Amino acid sequence: MIIHPFGGGVASAHGLGKNHLGGKGANLHEMAGIGLPVPPGFVIPTPVCADHYAAGGTLPPALLPEIAAGIGHIETAVASGARFGDADHPLLVSVRSGARVSMPGMMDTVLNLGLNDATVLGLAARSGDARFAWDSYRRFVQMYGDVVLGIDHYLFEDALEYAKEDKGVSLDTELDADDLKALVAAYLGIVEREQGAPFPQDVTAQLHGAVAAVFGSWRSERADVYRRLNDIPEDWGTAVTVQAMVFGNRGETSATGVAFTRDPSTGERGYYGEYLLNAQGEDVVAGIRTPQYLTRAAREKAGAKAASMEEALPVVYAELAALFDLLERHYRDMQDIEFTVEQGKLFVLQTRSGKRTAKAALKIACDMVEEGLIDQRTAILRVDPAMLDQMLHPTLDPAAKRDVIVRGLPASPGAASGAIVLDSETAEKRAAMGEDVILVRVETSPEDIAGMHAARGILTARGGMTSHAAVVARGMGRPCVSGAGNLAIDMNARSVRFGGVELAEGAVITLDGANGEVMRGTVATVQPELTGDFARLMLWADAHRTMAVRTNAETPADCATARSFGAEGIGLARTEHMFFSPERIVSVREMILAADEAGRRAALAKLLPAQREDFRAIFGIMAGLPVTVRLLDPPLHEFLPQREADFADVADATGVGVDVLKRRNAELHEFNPMLGHRGCRLGVTFPEIYEMQARAIFEAAVAVAQEAGVAPLPEVMVPLVGTRRELTLMKAVIDAAAEAVFAETGVRVPYLVGTMIELPRAALRAGEIAEDAEFFSFGTNDLTQTTLGISRDDASRFLGVYVDKGIYAHDPFVTLDVDGVGELVRIAAERGRAARPGLKLGICGEHGGDPASIAFCQTLGLDYVSCSPWRVPIARLAAAQAAL
Ligand code: PEP
Ligand code: MG
Repeated sequence: MIIHPFGGGVASAHGLGKNHLGGKGANLHEMAGIGLPVPPGFVIPTPVCADHYAAGGTLPPALLPEIAAGIGHIETAVASGARFGDADHPLLVSVRSGARVSMPGMMDTVLNLGLNDATVLGLAARSGDARFAWDSYRRFVQMYGDVVLGIDHYLFEDALEYAKEDKGVSLDTELDADDLKALVAAYLGIVEREQGAPFPQDVTAQLHGAVAAVFGSWRSERADVYRRLNDIPEDWGTAVTVQAMVFGNRGETSATGVAFTRDPSTGERGYYGEYLLNAQGEDVVAGIRTPQYLTRAAREKAGAKAASMEEALPVVYAELAALFDLLERHYRDMQDIEFTVEQGKLFVLQTRSGKRTAKAALKIACDMVEEGLIDQRTAILRVDPAMLDQMLHPTLDPAAKRDVIVRGLPASPGAASGAIVLDSETAEKRAAMGEDVILVRVETSPEDIAGMHAARGILTARGGMTSHAAVVARGMGRPCVSGAGNLAIDMNARSVRFGGVELAEGAVITLDGANGEVMRGTVATVQPELTGDFARLMLWADAHRTMAVRTNAETPADCATARSFGAEGIGLARTEHMFFSPERIVSVREMILAADEAGRRAALAKLLPAQREDFRAIFGIMAGLPVTVRLLDPPLHEFLPQREADFADVADATGVGVDVLKRRNAELHEFNPMLGHRGCRLGVTFPEIYEMQARAIFEAAVAVAQEAGVAPLPEVMVPLVGTRRELTLMKAVIDAAAEAVFAETGVRVPYLVGTMIELPRAALRAGEIAEDAEFFSFGTNDLTQTTLGISRDDASRFLGVYVDKGIYAHDPFVTLDVDGVGELVRIAAERGRAARPGLKLGICGEHGGDPASIAFCQTLGLDYVSCSPWRVPIARLAAAQAAL
């Protein structure tokens, strides 16, 4: 048998699965199998779709007798005596598509099939409702005309509008049986005129036409586009389900509705949903009538008048409620059910795992473990790590009004309101006086760090998801909207233009980092709550994961936040971020502008105590956990002023002439700062810089070991290494600094020296680099840009198009390019470990907080992932899922 009947006590293909039956067909078989009252029907499985195309778009002849047998099954199972095409007691069916995965709205459906000029009279007589019969016929002719015969649906809609105009009414429901009968005649006329042949009156021909049309819709243009966007192979094909129609619009004992077995927004147990008396599913979806509450309690709470289902149809409601438990025990998840009641008889049309908010997902997962429905493992797998983002930041009150003035990219999650400030200095000043500010810039640079920290949120006109603003804002947990193309900043007038709206500096705006919207004025926010179910699920996740989760952080505040989120150490402390504070930047600039080594050393000596205090604070907070400190990485020009107006001030502060400053600035300026004089190249050319930083690290470590009695675990990391010799030289500088400090203090602390792997050459030569390195940390931001040859900073100009055209499946700076960059990571891990068994491996690029990339890291057996503090919980859950 090609087809698979179900319903009426039959579930012929139960267990054959979605690949064969399509999602809908498999679901119906499963429901029938557990005894749910599904309307009977049969499934034509997915392989027939290919046969249909192979036969030039016609139904394979062997299928025709099977379809007839399927109809026979339905006639028997409905047990009402209805027969397909019977003028006295007609059976009506629906014909629907159903691929392996849901493709909502992409393919075609035909309802009420089996109606013709004769059966409509039988339906009218049997149901005692002529209006219902003619309305069903009217809907069927329109749908069949549109889907199967390809007639423009506007023609039918116009005819409906004329009919209402003629009668002087505005609602479809105001047309009576006679009006609808006349309308059917008009519709049949449209069909005959448009296709040059009458509407098919033979019900079997109707059915064959509809099945062929559903198969045909698999290759429709919109389905094609959807498949491409969602990576769905064309050869999967769709199944077709033919099923008895049930009607929720056959009087006051009929109804249709949707129910959830738990509240999808809070996760609370209890029956939740809505229904409409005497209505069809489309009426609910189309929003023509407002649905009523399912339960009396919900109705009373809302103060609504119209009877709840519990009150209007108490017997059927009790039956439905009994099914909830059956469904949850069977599916072991919250279900979203579509049901119809036809003259007092309940039918379940569909059930699936219900969509839910992050809060509900956590509660349902934890409650179901407690109820014994699922185990911890399943609970961990049930919650989408990316959804946790919703929980970790304040979000906008969904009920609040929004006056959106511009849109950009959702670069960093969370929501914040504040006064517009146009530069970093103003941000710091106004924030210091207790004002909430939003930093608005064309784009940000490392110079803006202090202002970004002072601001509640950041908005930029340029830059993508991995622009400086985006990365730094995510690291700090500040909401950020970047690349808002319609935003223009006038620094002279000190005002901002958002498309048509102009606002002066100081005007209040609100950012929604979750969707990239910018609103005028203040919009109320809701604070996150990280206790209860959230904390419980995190602990379960910790017990199941094998990779450690560290954080990328360098300020004491961020380190403390990360620990409170469960970070198990620091995977990347970017020391350059410590150089931008107003008291230090002067010494940094003196160091850069010094004419010789002695001058540099004098400036570095002033920085040493400050760096030492930074590390002391971090080691103290991390109390014995490993801390990877990366030595200076960015090119030096980033520390020099870029604006003419600042040259005089800086020259003054550092004691050199403006001309010297400008000359040095011009010398240092790089067109592509990402691959120039940076990383360990700075350490190689100016070893005294790394020497100072290493000394600061060891002095701090010794001090903390003496004070706190826990030995800190410094891991000194050298950036941008490409050859072993670079690391050999830098390791000698670091080890010498360590020995000097240990000798001076008489205290030794354990430490490691390692390197970032962020250049392809380093990945390939990992074997020899591991001779010197005690750990590798994959800097996948730089490794991505150097492997792909795409600059991190301006990729957003074309990456969107690249993703749309399928050149990259995802933004490679967000989700690791496993085939390319991932291959290098794999090679480096293998070669590194072969040379040094037990070599510690971690990842500290932005990918360290991305669930898909974390899953890849698990396959390589990395020891840890490191991500920004606000992503630590996401990484903990993703790492647990990867390990399961
Ligand atoms: C990296 O390149 O992946 C990295 C973590 O370093 P940064 O982002 O500071 O260049
Ligand atoms: Mg890097």
